[in-house]
Amino acid sequence: MQTPAAGRSGLDTLAINMSSNAWRLDLGPLEELYRRDHRRRAVAFFRPSSLFIFLLYMLMSTGIYQLMPASELGQWLALYGNVGVIIVMAGALSRLPVFDRWFEHYVGLGSFGAVALSVAVTGVVRDPVAGQLTQAAVMYAIVVIYCVTGLRFVHAFLAGWLGGAAGTALAWLLGGSVDWEILHRTFSGASLLGMFIAFLAERRDRELFLQTQLLRDLQSRTEEYAEQLDELSRHDALTGLANRRHFDEALQQEWRRATRQQSPLAVLMIDIDHFKHYNDSLGHVQGDSCLRRVAGIIAAQTRRPGELAVRYGGEEFLLLFPNTDRRTACQLAERLLEAIHEAGLAQAPGLARATVSVSIGVAVATPGSGMLLPGELICAADDALYEAKHAGRATWRYAAGLDSVPAAHPASQLHKQAS
Ligand code: GH3
Ligand code: MG
Ligand code: MG
Repeated sequence: MQTPAAGRSGLDTLAINMSSNAWRLDLGPLEELYRRDHRRRAVAFFRPSSLFIFLLYMLMSTGIYQLMPASELGQWLALYGNVGVIIVMAGALSRLPVFDRWFEHYVGLGSFGAVALSVAVTGVVRDPVAGQLTQAAVMYAIVVIYCVTGLRFVHAFLAGWLGGAAGTALAWLLGGSVDWEILHRTFSGASLLGMFIAFLAERRDRELFLQTQLLRDLQSRTEEYAEQLDELSRHDALTGLANRRHFDEALQQEWRRATRQQSPLAVLMIDIDHFKHYNDSLGHVQGDSCLRRVAGIIAAQTRRPGELAVRYGGEEFLLLFPNTDRRTACQLAERLLEAIHEAGLAQAPGLARATVSVSIGVAVATPGSGMLLPGELICAADDALYEAKHAGRATWRYAAGLDSVPAAHPASQLHKQAS
């Protein structure tokens, strides 16, 4: 079984990265996961924020419109109007999930276009008062790109600076000229500020993402440990069979089911014969190995869901068979005796029988019909086992008095071979 610790090293190294306060938190193998997660959140954020961006755009446009001389209105609108179109289109695309995987592309390109157009406008508007507002519009565009669109730092950086360069070229192509003195203090200043904010925000976002992953990892490891612990607490370490605790739970559950369905519940109590002698003669290590072999044969008798093989204690075992009547239970006991005999496990010297054998007590009851408690069924099986031991071992006996049908004598030849 894979231990929960497996595969930890990657996440642990990242945790060290984070605690060492690396300048740019590198997520290594989690980078792709982070990008997808970031995109999912960015699209969800952009849907409402595109409306907010459009409002800002309208605030700026109406101001410039009021100040702009009529002679320049046409050219200004032809350029700056496209920024509004870009915002509306990007907002619309963000509402179509099919385009989600292209989020960085359409918002990045849109940002590039919006910056280029805003910068170009500053170059073609000649009216000094309206010109001031177009410079403010450039700053708006930059802040929006770095802080509101949800683009990752690298995309916002590319869209901002390449957009600025393209806008300068566009202004020049349209016969205008960009005022470097002013643009430097608006475009460059806002860009530097935006970069700083966006970089810090992304670093914190990466940190949060990594912490969430570490928490999830810890949670799943804890769950795995809890499962393993539960498994261990319900099984016997030597034989791997269900232990007594597991059996007690299963018996209660099957008893309730049998009560509801009025179906018979069968229990076989199995005890290895002369096991003390075996241990004393061959040693405990050999004794343990014999216990494991016998346990394997007992476990092989269970086939249907709900059937359970249990190490009840020492060299005693139980088999629980739901919905099994007396005739079938006795056949199962017979079959188990044969299986043990066929296994031919060598007995310790000094006994009449050459191979290891077991004795079995069989009890079957339908809850409610005379028998009130599941413990009574176990006691009945124990009594039957006692009888089997007295009958010479290597045989089975059915618990007397559990139902009206008389217990048939075991057909096995094995019980006849007295020890
Ligand atoms: P009987 O045929 O009447 O059942 O006789 P027995 O010798 O099998 O029964 P008894 O109760 O006298 O002895 C049971 C022995 O089982 C005693 C102990 O040494 C051995 N035993 C119990 N648990 C373990 C175990 O986990 N490992 C080993 N190796 N031996 C065990
Ligand atoms: Mg025994
Ligand atoms: Mg015993």
